[in-house]
Amino acid sequence: MNIVLLGAPGAGKGTQAAKLVEEFGVAHISTGDILRAAVKAGTPLGLQAKSYMDAGELVPDEVVIGLVKDRLTKDDAQKGFILDGFPRTTVQAVALDAELSAMGKDLDAAVAVEVDPEAIVARLTSRRMCRVCGFIGSKANEVCPKCGGEMYQRADDNETTVRNRLDVYAKATAPLIDYYRGCNLLVEIDGAQAVDDVYADVKKALNL
Ligand code: AMP
Repeated sequence: MNIVLLGAPGAGKGTQAAKLVEEFGVAHISTGDILRAAVKAGTPLGLQAKSYMDAGELVPDEVVIGLVKDRLTKDDAQKGFILDGFPRTTVQAVALDAELSAMGKDLDAAVAVEVDPEAIVARLTSRRMCRVCGFIGSKANEVCPKCGGEMYQRADDNETTVRNRLDVYAKATAPLIDYYRGCNLLVEIDGAQAVDDVYADVKKALNL
C-alpha cells in the first residue's frame, strides 16, 4: 500500500493516516511531524524550517524532498507507506514520481480528504495534540484519552496562521488534485463526516 493523503491542513489526514498505519502496519511519513521533531531538537533542519512553519508558509521544496527521499529508503517503508502532508507542490509531486520510479515503486492512490475551509478554521483552532503519543484530539480532551499524556496546542494552530495555511493550500497544493486526477490515481472522500465514517469511505475507496 503506497498512498498519498491530500487535503487542506485540518482535513483529517493525520487521523486517517494513524488509523491506516495501525490496521495495516505501513509506515506513516508525515513531513510536518518530521519537521516539528527537528525544530524541537534544534537541529540545523529545524532551525531552517522554524520560521516558515511559524508563519504557516511552506518549507522550501528541496528541503522536504530530501527528507522524504531519505525516509522512503528506511526499512519500515518497504512494506508500504502513507505520505501525509507531502507532496504539497507540483515540484514535490514530480520529484516523488521520479524517486518512486527510480526505486521501482508505484503509488496506488492519492486520497483527497475534503472539508469546507470555515469548518477547518474551527477544527484547527480547537485542535490539541498529545505530547507523548501524538494522539490528535480537541480542547475537550484535558489529558490524552489514549495514554493519559499532556495535551498541547500546536504553535501554528492559531487563527491567523491557520488562515494563511489555508491560502497556501489553495494556491500551492490544491492543484495537485488535478495532477493526480490526470494520473488516474485520485480518490475523493467527504472529510466532514465522523472520523470512523471517513475511515470506512477511505477503505472502501481503496478496496481494503
Ligand atoms: P502539517 O503538520 O502537515 O500541517 O505541516 C506543518 C508545517 O510544516 C506546514 O505549514 C509547513 O510549514 C511545513 N511542511 C510540512 N510538510 C511540508 C511540505 N510537504 N512542503 C513544505 N512545507 C511543509
